[in-house]
Amino acid sequence: MDIKTNAIALRSADYKENDKLTWLYSVEYGKICVIAKGVKKATAKLKFAVEPFCFGEYILSLAYDKYVLTGCSQVESFYDLRADTDKFYSGAVMLDMIAQLEIEKQPNPAVFLLLLKGLQLLVSETNPKVTLIKFILNYLENSGYKLNFDECGVCRSVNFDRMYLDYNSSCFVCPACRTADSVEIAPPVMSTLKMINVMPYEKLGVVKIKDDYLKKALSLLNEYIGQSMAKIKSLKQYLEL
Ligand SMILES: [Zn+2]
Repeated sequence: MDIKTNAIALRSADYKENDKLTWLYSVEYGKICVIAKGVKKATAKLKFAVEPFCFGEYILSLAYDKYVLTGCSQVESFYDLRADTDKFYSGAVMLDMIAQLEIEKQPNPAVFLLLLKGLQLLVSETNPKVTLIKFILNYLENSGYKLNFDECGVCRSVNFDRMYLDYNSSCFVCPACRTADSVEIAPPVMSTLKMINVMPYEKLGVVKIKDDYLKKALSLLNEYIGQSMAKIKSLKQYLEL
């Protein structure tokens, strides 16, 4: 049986002598693993389709519960991301989060759109770190790990000047509710997260925030995701640059 699906290539690994295994994130099928035969040969026509960031209409044949790549017409390559370290890493983190955190064969069109929108923003003039923070906050919300910036996650108080991220309860808490597993969040980092959280996508391009605050905000999100979901290697690498 042949199927057609719009998908974004997340990652590829060598498989057998000339083949690759490619993980796609598809609108209709969610995260799927596809066998791409012969793509390691220099003359292979579908080489581009297994490159991370390729967005295309993929044609797959489904046999014995395995997907085999048979065709692809590219919609967008996002290839330009590779020319800029910040854009490349931000995009790589987005792909890795989907590859690691989404459950196989569980479609989620909202997450697909989030990824597509994120990659499209990365090729624009918008600050890549701002784009990545927005993507992560939206992804967390979509996955049931939404961060609430306006009230203490334990006592619901809204009246406090210091805020802490509590790894035990996976939420922001007030000074009265903090535990040994809470870390204090510097006010400029908190305002950075809050601002990006409420800003609509089309306005993100005008956001001007110090790189240091953006890095600290990403570092906080890295800790949070690492504690509540899974460690994302590329995010750690990006922060160490
Ligand atoms: Zn509280």
